[in-house]
Formats: sequence, structure tokens, C-alpha cells
Amino acid sequence: MTIKENISLQSFTSFGCNETSRYFTSVASADAILEVLQWCKEKNIPYLILGTGSNVLFTKTYEGLILKNEIAGIVKTNETATEVFLSVGAGENWHHFVSYCVQKGWGGIENLSLIPGTVGASPIQNIGAYGVEVQECIQSVTALDTLNDQWVNLSNHDCAFGYRDSLFKQQKNRYLITQVHFVLQKQPHLRTDYGAIKEVLHEKNIKNPSMADVSNAVIQIRNAKLPDPAKLGNAGSFFKNPSISKTDYEKLALQFPQMMAYPISDKAYKLAAGWLIEHCGWKGVRKGKVGCFEKQSLVIVNYDHASGKEIFDFSEEIIQSVLQKFNLLLEREVNIF
Ligand SMILES: Cc1cc2nc3c(=O)[nH]c(=O)nc-3n(C[C@H](O)[C@H](O)[C@H](O)COP(=O)(O)OP(=O)(O)OC[C@H]3O[C@@H](n4cnc5c(N)ncnc54)[C@H](O)[C@@H]3O)c2cc1C
Repeated sequence: MTIKENISLQSFTSFGCNETSRYFTSVASADAILEVLQWCKEKNIPYLILGTGSNVLFTKTYEGLILKNEIAGIVKTNETATEVFLSVGAGENWHHFVSYCVQKGWGGIENLSLIPGTVGASPIQNIGAYGVEVQECIQSVTALDTLNDQWVNLSNHDCAFGYRDSLFKQQKNRYLITQVHFVLQKQPHLRTDYGAIKEVLHEKNIKNPSMADVSNAVIQIRNAKLPDPAKLGNAGSFFKNPSISKTDYEKLALQFPQMMAYPISDKAYKLAAGWLIEHCGWKGVRKGKVGCFEKQSLVIVNYDHASGKEIFDFSEEIIQSVLQKFNLLLEREVNIF
């Protein structure tokens, strides 16, 4: 175990801010995690597990130890005529895993192509894009429950998945995930109903798309719409799309008939946070080193070595203006530390 001190987190987070961590180490096995946690207990310091840091914002020095997860491995544990079962190390790169499955012809996660991050972080906020959420393919999750230092295997139901939400997000930092167990389909039902995917397939004149066609369409859409963190620091969508009651939606829709929203049940609606932010005039606005991305107002970007605090303050200004105009409190999707 090599523990480094006072490490800049700039290259370990997609926002690229220069906050530091008091201690830093990498873990490549479940045993290494136990060893590191024992060290933290002896020193009585907090700890935090990180994947690629694409959904975090540090606003100050982290006064504990950061464990960078590097647990690797993709293992086929079982298969039937229609399904394949895979156990995947939490430190595996998410897009690499998706590409591997697409190449093998195992379907279910192709719409989640090119989402940055690790496999181990995918259940945390139940990553989702283009009509699919990862919960649809997760069978169970292996994690260390740090409340009692017991290894647990949590079923899909135990994970309490919701929209950008799960048990792991609700009980932050309690579970350290080491493996995610997936069930994928050999004859998947491809999900091409999402508008942008349909358009790309139509442009390319693809009438009977393969899994690879869907994955490539998603990659093309994402490359055109989202900033590349390697070039412009960001963490994807900074805010969640808010859900409101049907009654509140109907009142708001009278005032703002163009508002983008869709029903999620017969009693509730989900609103497009991007639309709300854009209609407060934020799209493309830059203030100093921070800005609201010109092609997608849900994304906050670090233009020029902004600190985590500057990015946080910018997000607070957006929240306040949406509250003022629409009387809606936006919730941050990004994890703030
Ligand atoms: C350009 C861009 C586009 C994006 N698009 C999407 C999108 O379409 N859909 C979407 O859902 N997300 C999207 N995201 C957000 C992000 O990619 C995902 O949330 C991803 O799962 C984060 O993975 P990570 O390894 O970087 O996690 P990190 O940012 O390192 O960690 C995120 C949180 O999970 C915790 N965590 C990480 N690993 C573990 C583990 N093994 N055990 C327990 N806790 C852990 C961390 O402590 C932290 O609280 C995007 C981000 C960017 C930069």
C-alpha cells in the first residue's frame, strides 16, 4: 500500500479543478480496500472512493484519504440460450465495458455508450441516457458495508434504484462497491425510439439497425452535443430534471406553455432542467472562469482553471434564478465534497 500526501485532484476529476486531497492511494483488489480502511481507522480520518471523478466537484481540500478504484476484470459467470451473466470489476472503464459487450453481441447497455466513468460508479446514480438506465441490466452489486465491515451482495431490489438515484446515493459513502453483476441479452430489443437516435439512423439510411449501429449513433450524438472533459472541464449534467405534481405542472404550463415536460405517472411530471435554465438566460453565459455550455445548458464548464468553489457558486446562481422565475428548486446531480 503506497499512500501519497497532498495530491492535486486536477487530473483525477473531469472538472480539472486544483483542489487537493490530504492522502491518496489506488486500490486494485478487495483486500487492498480492507487494508486501506484499517489505516484510515487507525489514523481516525475519513475516506472516499473515486472512479474517474466524472461526477464530483471538490470545493475545498479533502481532509481524508481518497481511494482510486482500479479493480479490474470482466468475467462471464453463466449463460443461457437468451442471456449472459457477467461479473465486472468496479474499476473497469464503463465505455470499454459497453464496447466489449457490443462487440460480443450482448445487448442492454448500448444506449449508455460513451458515458464517462467506471463500472463501479454506474449504480451510484443509476446512470442513464437515451431512454435506458443501467438498473435494467444490473442483477446485483458486491460491496463492503463500512457500517459493520461486512461484504454484502445487494440484489437489484436492495439497490433501491430511482431516477439518478440509488441506495448508494442515499447512504453516501456507506458502501464501497467492488463488483457489479450484469445480465445482458443475446437477442436484445434495441431501443431506438429516442428522437435523436431515430434521426441519426434515418440520416444514415439504416432501417434495421444492429447493436453496433445504435451504439455508434449514441456516440455521434454525444460527441456533437457534449463537451469533451479532456478539452473543457465538466461533469456532464450538473442538475437533475425536477419532478413535480400534475397539479403544479398544470399551473406552471399555463404561465409557460412552451415548457418542456413529460408525464412520469398519472400524478407527476418531469421537467427538462435544461429548458428551465435556458429560459433564465443562462445558455452560453460565461462569468469569469466558469460558464454554462453553449450547446447544453445543463452542463457547467470550467473554461480556465476555475476553483471548485467558483463552479459551485456559479451553480448556486443558476439555482437561485430558476427558483425566482419558476418557483422550482433544482437539485444538483454532481456529488459535492
Ligand atoms: C461529459 C460527461 C457526460 C456525462 N453523461 C452522463 C449521462 O449521460 N448519464 C449519466 O447518468 N451520467 C453522466 N455523466 C456523469 C458520470 O459520467 C457518471 O455519473 C459516472 O457513473 C461517474 O463515474 P466515475 O467513475 O467518474 O465516478 P466518480 O465521479 O469518481 O464518483 C461519483 C460518486 O460515486 C462514488 N463512487 C465511485 N465509485 C464508487 C465505488 N466503487 N463504490 C462506492 N461509491 C463509488 C464516489 O464516491 C462519488 O460520490 C457524465 C459526465 C460527463 C463528464
